[in-house]
Amino acid sequence: MSLTPEEIERHKRHILLKEIGGPGVQKLRAARVSIIGAGALGGPCALYLAAAGAGEIELWDDDRVERSNLQRQVQFGEADIGNLKVDALAARLAAMDSSLRALPRAERFSGGSAPAGQVLIDASDNFPTRYALNQLAHETGRPMVHGAAAGWAGQVSVFASGLGGGAPCYRCWVPETPPDAEACDEVGVVGAVTGMTAAAMALEAIKLITGAGKPLVGRVLLLSGLSGEARTVVLRRDPACPVCSKH
Ligand SMILES: [Zn+2]
Repeated sequence: MSLTPEEIERHKRHILLKEIGGPGVQKLRAARVSIIGAGALGGPCALYLAAAGAGEIELWDDDRVERSNLQRQVQFGEADIGNLKVDALAARLAAMDSSLRALPRAERFSGGSAPAGQVLIDASDNFPTRYALNQLAHETGRPMVHGAAAGWAGQVSVFASGLGGGAPCYRCWVPETPPDAEACDEVGVVGAVTGMTAAAMALEAIKLITGAGKPLVGRVLLLSGLSGEARTVVLRRDPACPVCSKH
């Protein structure tokens, strides 16, 4: 697949980077990505992937846009209130790039009918969905980009346990739903922090698709908006993990 003159003009800033270049843009144009969650993380992540030229973005979410979402879900406007998030976001992505295939799935992923993307993005806000996606990623040998944010803090990692190499899965890190698990509508979160986290998630997906750099496999990036600091922590595979060590 070669790039058209319009694609070359559009993606020039990526083509200029030696780690992406024309071949990387071609990989992005051919890429299929599934984003689970179309809210504060999935929305901005989808916008950056669409701008980067992703060929197909599948969106999974059964929520509708509420006024309280607008503080951080910058993909939506007031006119979207009451509409399905996946429909509003798909329309936004289509407006950004008419050649993008945006596929809305107005359902909550819980296993079963499977996301089609070569990269799975966990932008969900609950542990059952996250665990089901982690299981699918492991069993089908696909990488899962994970992100979460609450308060002033964000975290991003890539789980690639099904690709060989002994990398941990999400469940190695978080074996059970934490007792203090709270949805972000209960704890509060800074919109700019969800944006930072979502952009870092899109960046990891772009690295996985293009082969650029070193993805956050076996590491978690911890962002502290309040202190203005970021650090990475190494994660290890749990030999007793029920997902990735059962064989
Ligand atoms: Zn595991």
